[in-house]
Amino acid sequence: MSEENWVIDLRSDTLTQPTREMKEAMMMASLGDDVFGEDPTVRQLEAKLAGIFGMEAGLFCPSGTMTNQIAIRLHTQPQTEVVCHKQSHIYLYEGGGIMSNSHASVRLLDGELGKIDAESIRHVINPDDDHAPETALVSLENTMNKGGGSVYHLAEVRPIRQLCKETGLKLHLDGARLFNALIHSGDRAYEWGRMFDTISICLSKGLGCPVGSVLLGKQSDIKKARKIRKAMGGGMRQAGMLAAAGIYALDHHVSRLEDDHIRARIIGEIMQKLPHVREILPVSTNILIARLDKISPESFLEQLAEKNIRAVKFGNDQIRMVTHLDIEDRHLEALEARLANWKSTL
Ligand SMILES: *Cc1c(COP(=O)(O)O)cnc(C)c1O
Repeated sequence: MSEENWVIDLRSDTLTQPTREMKEAMMMASLGDDVFGEDPTVRQLEAKLAGIFGMEAGLFCPSGTMTNQIAIRLHTQPQTEVVCHKQSHIYLYEGGGIMSNSHASVRLLDGELGKIDAESIRHVINPDDDHAPETALVSLENTMNKGGGSVYHLAEVRPIRQLCKETGLKLHLDGARLFNALIHSGDRAYEWGRMFDTISICLSKGLGCPVGSVLLGKQSDIKKARKIRKAMGGGMRQAGMLAAAGIYALDHHVSRLEDDHIRARIIGEIMQKLPHVREILPVSTNILIARLDKISPESFLEQLAEKNIRAVKFGNDQIRMVTHLDIEDRHLEALEARLANWKSTL
């Protein structure tokens, strides 16, 4: 069957190829040296995204890891502590950067679907005492990757903002997929901008850009962040070619995220029927996590791969699938056909 030959690649929303229109926008971009602060397209992207969130300034960086790590460096000092969920990207997937870049300690919290609340944060704020690292920063993630693309609502964030204000803690948001969260919740971007000292947003996930993330914050913080970016080796020159892709994506790829969410739900319904799938975590956005039963993720993935369906292992008994710009209805139809076949042979 020739239909079986093409790959349905659901490993990540970072796999997207820039569209022809995006490449055209990149080719036409006005350029300058951004380390001199002279790239008009980078400045335009930074101002545009800051404007959307009602924040003062933005800083274009090569990756979301860098925007998160710069924010942590900005808000902490050596021997202080960052509070976050135990499955946070900043803790699990950034190469131990909190320790190596900022010499800070981490306090890990538990919580449903990767989310934490004001009460559990309040309990781990250290007293002013020589023994304890001084609590400096709270970091949230929205959507929450390890929580299956789960979404915080503003009502959950307000008490955390209030607590941070009362106790003098900084509040950072790893918003790698924040636009997915906003599309799901219907919250306004500027309401989110008001809650956080800094927000990191990825352009290279569901928005479909080849490279890039932006850190948003106050003018004075972004000025310091620029200096940290330089020290991390993230100052880029004619980066306007990449920023142009970001501007294009903000104009054309935000509202379509809803399609990714619908497709992820449909894939969830298909997967739910398979043998060895114990449970699908609630699908709110473009991420789907399947919990497996009596099969290792490795063998499950191997069997999917035989059908030219690709996903990733996501813990000892879980796999993850992510929808994105390059997954269309024809992929869903093929997925269903290939798995119906598989089900009967298992
Ligand atoms: C992808 C991602 C990042 C940043 O990753 P990079 O690959 O460094 O751009 C940060 N946080 C979350 C939750 C992510 O999914």
